[in-house]
Amino acid sequence: MKRLRLAHLPTPLVRPARLAERLGIELWVKRDDATGGAEGGNKVRKLELLLAAALEAHADTVVTCGGIQSNHARATALCAAALGLRCVLYLRVPGLAADDDGAGIPWSAEVAPLAGNVLLDRLAGAELRLITPASYRERDAVMARGAAALRAAGARPYVIPEGGSNGLGALGYVEAMGEAARQLAAGEAGGRPFDLVVHAASSGGTAAGVALGAAKHRVAGELRAFAVSEDAATTTARVVALLDEARACDATLGLPVRWSIDERARGPAYAVSTPEQREHIAAAARLGGLVLDPVYTGKAFSGLWDLCERGELRGERVLFVHTGGLPGLLAEAATFTDVC
Ligand SMILES: *Cc1c(COP(=O)(O)O)cnc(C)c1O
Repeated sequence: MKRLRLAHLPTPLVRPARLAERLGIELWVKRDDATGGAEGGNKVRKLELLLAAALEAHADTVVTCGGIQSNHARATALCAAALGLRCVLYLRVPGLAADDDGAGIPWSAEVAPLAGNVLLDRLAGAELRLITPASYRERDAVMARGAAALRAAGARPYVIPEGGSNGLGALGYVEAMGEAARQLAAGEAGGRPFDLVVHAASSGGTAAGVALGAAKHRVAGELRAFAVSEDAATTTARVVALLDEARACDATLGLPVRWSIDERARGPAYAVSTPEQREHIAAAARLGGLVLDPVYTGKAFSGLWDLCERGELRGERVLFVHTGGLPGLLAEAATFTDVC
């Protein structure tokens, strides 16, 4: 399997002692927010494989998609720039009236303010095509048409699905579990497997990779992923499909660990947090120096907090995967006045 070296690895395995004490569990955090600088987060591990495949296919342009504040789109924009690849991003804008039948309208500050991930996308020189939520539901077709138009204009596009989540991208998280296993073998984090891994799930590639990798490398007995966009049934179906896709890419993979998708931390809507979730985000920063975001990691952490409050995890060894997302927090600064 061809893989580029894009991430800063291994990422630290840390024990936020005061936070662990507050939660009553043996909490460890895999700092995958630190897979890079501004490009950091869980998507870089997937992009190591996906962009290797793009280069192998002699692509000169990468095409991908996401919400307007997509961390995946921003990581792709920055990594593509570093590799000298052109980058085209189809980004969903809530409330956008029309988008030229899914071809997208060009970026403007009135429609998509230069904040958080959008600022970084534009700094990296990515071409933004803003599309409606209705077009976004047909994102694979939208990107296929975009790629065909690019090809007709002489470019060599490579399309990466939402979140970098296909079988190949998921292998980035199989390898992340291999990395954690090597840290345990070296005596880090108490030197023995975790009871449970917890993280946020949206497009499902991280969960599929963690479930397969935790089994292959004996890192943990179970995965609990908190759905942050679609409901549990939809997210579960995505992960099920990706488990098969990942196994088709790597025949050495066996069965995943026991896994489940928990939808109780979704909050009011994608990217909208509750006051209680913001309290938990503030607690992580104040008791652990950990900066979580209101779209992904903050919701997963809040879900973990609630499991602990209900006494479901007393004393267990839990690995929380911090998947990044800082620019998304900074873009939502105005919603944090209640806890700051
Ligand atoms: C994309 C993302 C996730 C979810 O990962 P998936 O593989 O899409 O399920 C979690 N946290 C952050 C910060 C992300 O950007």
